[in-house]
Amino acid sequence: MKIQTNQFTVNKRFPLTISRGTTAQTTNIIVKIEENGIEGWGEASPFGVGNHRQTTEKIIESLTQITPILELYKPWQRQEIEEILKQNQTPSATRAAIDMALYDWMGKTVKLPLWKIWGLDIKKIVPTSVTIGINSPEGAAKRTQDWLEYMDVKLLKIKLGSKEGITADQKMLLAVKETAPNIPLFVDANGGWNLENAILMSSWLAELGVKYIEQPLARGEEQNLATLKKYSPLPIFVDESCFTSADIPQLANYVDGINIKMMKSGGLTEALRMVNTAKAHNLQVMFGCYSDSCLANTAASQLAPLADYLDLDSHLNLIDDPFMGALVENGRILPNNLPGLGVKYSETSA
Ligand SMILES: [Mg+2]
Repeated sequence: MKIQTNQFTVNKRFPLTISRGTTAQTTNIIVKIEENGIEGWGEASPFGVGNHRQTTEKIIESLTQITPILELYKPWQRQEIEEILKQNQTPSATRAAIDMALYDWMGKTVKLPLWKIWGLDIKKIVPTSVTIGINSPEGAAKRTQDWLEYMDVKLLKIKLGSKEGITADQKMLLAVKETAPNIPLFVDANGGWNLENAILMSSWLAELGVKYIEQPLARGEEQNLATLKKYSPLPIFVDESCFTSADIPQLANYVDGINIKMMKSGGLTEALRMVNTAKAHNLQVMFGCYSDSCLANTAASQLAPLADYLDLDSHLNLIDDPFMGALVENGRILPNNLPGLGVKYSETSA
C-alpha cells in the first residue's frame, strides 16, 4: 500500500481550558493509505497527559520512520501491522491514524459502513455531552448559553480542578446549573484534585444531582482510588489513568467506568478490546476525544452503540474543520451510511 500524510491546523470557536492548561488551536495529521485505487483515511491529534506528550512533531517523526516499513504490507494485514507498530513503539496517536485508515479502506473495499460490518444498532447511540471548560462563573454561564443556542444539548460535561481551588470550582458549577437547570451534568476534574478535595467535591456534587465524576485524581495517584471509592457517593470514571485494555484489570475494583479515546487506545481495534475488557469487569464505558476533528470523532461514532456515555464534541467546537462525516441529530453523533468511516472533505474546505 501507499501511505501519504498531511498536516492541517484547526481552530477552536471557544478555547478550552482544563486543569492542565488552555488549547485554542492544534495541528493534526491525516494519514491516507491507498491500495487497489481505494483510499483509507485516519487522523492523529496531539495530546498530553502529565509527562506523557504526543506532539504533532513526534507524531510526524514516527510516521516518517514507520511508513517505508508499512508500505511493504497490504491494508488487510492488520494483525501483522499491529505487531510492527508495537515493536517500533509507535506512539498511540500515530497508531490510531493508521488503524482508522486501515478500517476505512476495508469498509470502502467491501462497500459497507463499519457499524454495519460490526452489526451494531445505531438506535442505541446516546446523546453526546458537550464541554464547558474552566472559566469564571460568568464565562461558564455564557459558554453554556452558547451551547444551548448551537444545538439540542442533552448532557453537559463541566471541567473542574481549577488552579484557584475548589471554591472556584463550586462557583463555576453553580453558574452552569443556574443557566441550564434541567440539563443533566457530569464533572471532569482532569486529575486536578487531591484525595481530600475529591472526597469533599464528590459529596457536594452528589447533592446537586451530578451524575458522575471523571478523573478526580491525577494519573499516578491510582493508589488513592480505593479510599475515594469508599467515600464517594458518585460513580468514578477514569480517563488519563486508562490508555488501553491492559490498564483495566487493576483499576476495575476502584472505579465504575472508563473513558476510551482513539488517541490513547491507538485506534478502533484496541478501543473494541477496551469495551470488551471493561464490560467483562462490569465497568461502564464512555468514548471521548482530544482536539480531534470530525474524522476521528466519526471513527469513534462507528463504535458508539457500545458506549454508555459519549463525549465526542471536540469537532463541534471547530471553526475550520476540513471534514464532514457523522451527523448531529437530537444531540446524537450518528455515523452515516457511506462505506468505511463515511468521512469526506467538507464543502467549505479547499
Ligand atoms: Mg477526561
